[in-house]
Amino acid sequence: MRASTLRRVIVGSAAALVAVTLTAGPAWAAPKEPPTPKFGPSIDDYAPDETPGKCLDKVEQPGVAAFRDFVLPLYPGTSNGGIHACSGFEHNEGRAWDWMVDADDAEDKAVAEVVLDWLLAEDRYGNDHAMARRLGIKYIIWNRRYLPLTEGADHDWVAYTADNPHTDHVHFSFSWAGARKQTTWWNARLEPDRLLRSHDHDADRPSVRTFSTGDDFWQVIAWRAPSGRTDPEGGGRTVTG
Ligand SMILES: [Zn+2]
Repeated sequence: MRASTLRRVIVGSAAALVAVTLTAGPAWAAPKEPPTPKFGPSIDDYAPDETPGKCLDKVEQPGVAAFRDFVLPLYPGTSNGGIHACSGFEHNEGRAWDWMVDADDAEDKAVAEVVLDWLLAEDRYGNDHAMARRLGIKYIIWNRRYLPLTEGADHDWVAYTADNPHTDHVHFSFSWAGARKQTTWWNARLEPDRLLRSHDHDADRPSVRTFSTGDDFWQVIAWRAPSGRTDPEGGGRTVTG
């Protein structure tokens, strides 16, 4: 009875945990990627190609400032290069950010690249450049290269040959939606795992706890043997209460 009940355990995809092993290298620790909120499958399109207008009075758009304030505390060796500047670009309107990292410094370069890789990775739903799109990033310039993330563009790094080679900072330009916090990074996060139902074990049945994360639901089933130990044959994730 116990075993057959326990073999019906269902553990859904949302419960997956991933262990990451970082290899030893230089004296500094390999940088970690930023924490990723949970999202459902819906995602923003690539950014519209909105040409920056004339320079506004000093202003920092909220989505840009919040991205800056998200990144900087994660990487204390890096610094803020500013949002607003009458320099052309989206800085004119407070919808670009310069993140000061040195392409000629190995640690800085590793930090920049772990963040760029995180922004541009494919998500679990198969969306390319997922975090960049959710944030409304329109293009990136870094270390003599330029990556357009606008609708209809080839979303590939190309050589950047303008005067400033961007070897001392990463430039992020944002769409107006991203700058205004109207993209899914800001408005479509899933709630953390929520406990929907709980049934405590009794003489004939294991305990069953049903959780949800957005569209996914999953169950944790545990049989507490009369001795008080959790039956290790339970499979999946067990809780001992
Ligand atoms: Zn810039």
